[in-house]
Amino acid sequence: MKIKAQYAMVLNLDKCIGCHTCSIPCKNVWTNRDGAEYMWFNNVECKPGIGYPQKWENQDIHKGGWQLKRGRLQLKAGGRLHKGINIFHNPDLPTIDDYYEPWDYDYARLIDSPKRRHQPSVRPRSRLTGEPINLKWGPNWEDDLAGLAETGAGDTNFKNLEIETYLQFRNVFMFWLPRLCEHCLNPACVASCPSGALYKREEDGIVLVDQERCRGWRYCVSGCPYKKVYFNWKTGRAEKCVFCYPRIEAGLTTLCAHSCVGRIRYVGVLLYDADRISPAVKAPSDQAVYPAHLDILLDPNDPEIERAATAQGIASNVLAAAKRSPTYALIKEWRLALPLHPEFRTLPMVWYVPPLSPVSSQVAPVQESETIDRLRIPMAYLANLLTAGDEVPVRTALKRLSAVRQYMRTQRVEKRSDKSLLDSVGLDEDTIQTMYRLLALGRLEDRFVLPTRPVQDDVNYARQGCCGFGDTV
Ligand code: SF4
Ligand code: SF4
Repeated sequence: MKIKAQYAMVLNLDKCIGCHTCSIPCKNVWTNRDGAEYMWFNNVECKPGIGYPQKWENQDIHKGGWQLKRGRLQLKAGGRLHKGINIFHNPDLPTIDDYYEPWDYDYARLIDSPKRRHQPSVRPRSRLTGEPINLKWGPNWEDDLAGLAETGAGDTNFKNLEIETYLQFRNVFMFWLPRLCEHCLNPACVASCPSGALYKREEDGIVLVDQERCRGWRYCVSGCPYKKVYFNWKTGRAEKCVFCYPRIEAGLTTLCAHSCVGRIRYVGVLLYDADRISPAVKAPSDQAVYPAHLDILLDPNDPEIERAATAQGIASNVLAAAKRSPTYALIKEWRLALPLHPEFRTLPMVWYVPPLSPVSSQVAPVQESETIDRLRIPMAYLANLLTAGDEVPVRTALKRLSAVRQYMRTQRVEKRSDKSLLDSVGLDEDTIQTMYRLLALGRLEDRFVLPTRPVQDDVNYARQGCCGFGDTV
C-alpha cells in the first residue's frame, strides 16, 4: 500500500444557483491576460446543454481520456506513434469557435457620441482581431436553457432517454454544472504531453503545467476529456487551473470555492492508495470504475492507515486535516458525492452531489421507494453524467439528501422525529445532524479543511516556480 494525500473538491449541485460568481475571481486572478481571453479555468454550464467548449463530453468527437482495449488502458487519441506522426498537426483540437471568440464592446461610442436623436449603441468587437463580430457562442451561451431546442440533441447525457420528451416545454428540467480541472489521479493530460511538461505534484496531487518545458504541441488540450487545459495563443504554451496553489499552501481555499455564493463547494484532503490506481482504471466495465475509485480512498480514522501514512511520511497536519475532511465524508462515508464521467477513466477528484428536483415539499416520503424516480430530472440523465449510467448510486444519494430534508423538516416544523425516515436510508440521527450542518448551514471552517504547509516542507518547490505566469499575474 502506497499512501498519498490529495486535495479534492465536492460541489453540491442541489444548491448551485448559477450565479457565475465563482468564475469571476478565477478569471480576474488567473486568465485576465492577453492570449487567455477565451479561457475560463472555472466555468458554469447549464444542463442539459453541450457546454464549453461545445460537446466536450462527446469523446467520439474530441477523443479525450482513456479507453480499455483488449484489457489494456490506452489514450483515446492514440499513443506515442500517433503523436509522432501528427506532431505538427494535432487533429483532435477544439477550434476557437468551439470555445467562443472572445469579445469586448466599443464603449467609446457611448462615451464620445455627439448629441443625437437616437441613443447610441455599442457593437461587440473581437478581442482577437479587433473587428466587429456577430456573436454566435460563449462560455455560458446556454444559460437558463437558452437554445436548448437546437443544442439539446447534442447532449450525450440523454443516452438511452427519449430526448424529444425532455425537450418539450412541459417536461424540461434544468440545473447548473460548475466545472474546473479535476486534478485527476490518472490524468490524461499528463500522459498526453510529448514534452513531459505537465505533472502532478507529489505532495498534494495538484496538476500543473511547467511553462519552461511546454512546447505548445497541445496534446494535453485534446487528451483532457474535460477540456480543462487551454492553449495561450500569445505565449504559445498550455495553461490550466492551478487549484489556487499559492492560496492552498497558505491554508486558504481556492478562489472559486471561497467566493461561492451558494456555499456549494467543499475542499479537503483525501488519503488514497496509489497501488490501487492501476486496477481501478482498468476496471472491466465503465460502471465498475466508480466503485473501484471509491476503493482507492482510505479511511484516515483507521488506526492502521494512520500508522502506515505516518510511516510513509504523510505530515501530521495533513493527516489531521484528512480526518476532518468534508470531502471524505461526502464522497466515501455518506456516498452523496459522485465523480463526473468516471467512464473517462482519469479518476477525477472534483465530485458532485446530484441535484434533487423539484423542491422537496413536492416529494412524497422516501419510504415510497419509487418516489425518488419521479423527480423532474431523470435519474438516467444524472447517472449518465455521474456514474457511467449506473442509477443505483445516484438513487442512494438522492434518497439520502431527501431524507435529511424531510427529517429536519419534521423536527423543526412538526416538532417530532420520524426515525423511519432514517432507517429507510441506513443513517442514524447523529449522521443526519452532521449532514445537515455541512449541507445546509455550511460554515466556512467545516466546508474548507486545509492543512497549511510547514515552512521546511519544500518538496517540489523549485518546480512550482515554473508554473506561475511570471509578473503578469
Ligand atoms: S481534468 Fe485536469 S487533471 Fe484531469 S485530464 Fe483534464 S486537465 Fe488533466
Ligand atoms: S458561485 Fe457557487 S452558486 Fe454561484 S454559480 Fe458558482 S458554484 Fe454555483
